[in-house]
Amino acid sequence: MNVAEIKKTDIANGEGVRVSLFVSGCRRHCKGCFNEIAWDFSYGKPFTPEVEEELFAALAPGFISGLTLLGGDPFEPENAEALLPFVKKVRSRFPEKTVWCFTGYTFSAEGHLVEAHADTSAARELLPLLDVLIDGRFEEEKKDIRLVFRGSSNQRVIDVKKSLAEGKVVLYLE
Ligand code: SF4
Repeated sequence: MNVAEIKKTDIANGEGVRVSLFVSGCRRHCKGCFNEIAWDFSYGKPFTPEVEEELFAALAPGFISGLTLLGGDPFEPENAEALLPFVKKVRSRFPEKTVWCFTGYTFSAEGHLVEAHADTSAARELLPLLDVLIDGRFEEEKKDIRLVFRGSSNQRVIDVKKSLAEGKVVLYLE
């Protein structure tokens, strides 16, 4: 997996001040995508152990609320595979911090991604490690700048843990 960009004090992609990891690679190619440059899986730099350490250091300060994964698409199968061990480490080192994730894939009430090719074992393991998932492709005709943490009205800000516990999609924010 390659990393397109890292923002160490991001206030736009989740609650509080967050460390945002933009991964490279997205096959969806939504019209009007905010980050077209990161569609290419080879864009940016490799996700090495040194980059992991850089992210751990960025997550450590008390004013950082947590980690946000976005891209590109963190749930492209190869990206989910690479992110899974990293997010497990984040969970164990920083249990008090939250993990948010943006994906163009759609979350199902049963706790997996509805698109079969992305519903891999890594994706199924990664999902329960998240607190909040913003799902669904960006639809330019449904774009609404008043929406919080999402670009188009078809996308949902989902409370992952409550959704998995209740077996239905529970929204974190309307
Ligand atoms: S899913 Fe996200 S990153 Fe991929 S094309 Fe759509 S808006 Fe861009």
